[in-house]
Amino acid sequence: MLEDKFGRRFHYLRMSITDVCNFRCNYCLPDGYKADGERSFLNVDELSIVAKAFASLGTSKIRITGGEPSLRKDLTDIITLCANTDGIKQVAMTTNGFRLERDVDRWHQAGLNTLNISIDSFDPHMFASITGHNKLETILRGIDRALELGIKVKINAVLLRQYNGSEMSRFLKWIKAKPVTLRFIELMQTGDNASFFEKNHVSGEPIKQDLLSQGWGQVIRDKAAGPAQEFQHPDYDGRIGLIMPYSKDFCASCNRLRISALGKLHLCLFAEMGIDLRPHMASTDHYALREALIAHLGDKEATHYLHEGYTGATTHLAMLGG
Ligand code: SAM
Ligand code: SF4
Repeated sequence: MLEDKFGRRFHYLRMSITDVCNFRCNYCLPDGYKADGERSFLNVDELSIVAKAFASLGTSKIRITGGEPSLRKDLTDIITLCANTDGIKQVAMTTNGFRLERDVDRWHQAGLNTLNISIDSFDPHMFASITGHNKLETILRGIDRALELGIKVKINAVLLRQYNGSEMSRFLKWIKAKPVTLRFIELMQTGDNASFFEKNHVSGEPIKQDLLSQGWGQVIRDKAAGPAQEFQHPDYDGRIGLIMPYSKDFCASCNRLRISALGKLHLCLFAEMGIDLRPHMASTDHYALREALIAHLGDKEATHYLHEGYTGATTHLAMLGG
């Protein structure tokens, strides 16, 4: 099992397969994706070595992310290779959902069992003003289809004071009869969004207190479940999650490692730089990569330094997938 010097175990890999995105979320890529020279993203063979190396060290869950992962034409093959890797029990993906309605049946057949879909507003105009795309209706139909197929669905909504700050009742109404977990994520400061962050960061703590006072109860979760605090209410089919990266001890429950679409290992979303492991992915087996992972894990720090305004090498989260 991959374990660091602080006793944290890493059973969860976030595998970015592209940093290209078609949306222009105002907190992430407000000017849209800008191509950064000639690059080739990890191919299916390299991704297969990555999945095998991590699985051989105890990883049981892979989340495919980006950029927008559904922009890759070979996405279904990537889901299949993850699902067919010995030891991988859960294949998840984070998506902006624009291809969901069209492709979710195919993804499900390939072995996808969990989907995180980003919806920062349930008001179609506000949704378009945050993302630059008028796609809310098709995304919502895609979610219904995913639920019909038995896929576990989580919704990610970034808390943004000037945009969705007054939409709490609308969010709650939507999960009344939807068996999904709606996760509110505190906006994180990245290299590119300092002034937007200043104006829009909202702490999740007052929301937590409001939920508790309205009869929501905190769900006791397994330590391996990750950083979201979850809440349930007898009158709601859906749950609420709160992800508060600025809260004390957030990093103590860290259970994930990240591989970028170019083959760099990121020990933290906000680490100074990625460690290039691509040369180890050219091999026909996964043993060299496995040894490299064990060697580099020793450098993982106890925490990020976001509180001090330090964002490492992360200019925006499309680089790595959040
Ligand atoms: N394009 C896909 C999507 O949006 O779901 C996957 C990649 S995106 C970087 C992954 C998640 O990170 C999304 O839920 C997005 O809302 C979130 N995210 C992006 N930038 C963020 C920031 N600065 N603070 C908090 N969450 C952010
Ligand atoms: Fe694209 Fe996701 Fe970033 Fe929005 S949050 S711009 S959908 S990568």
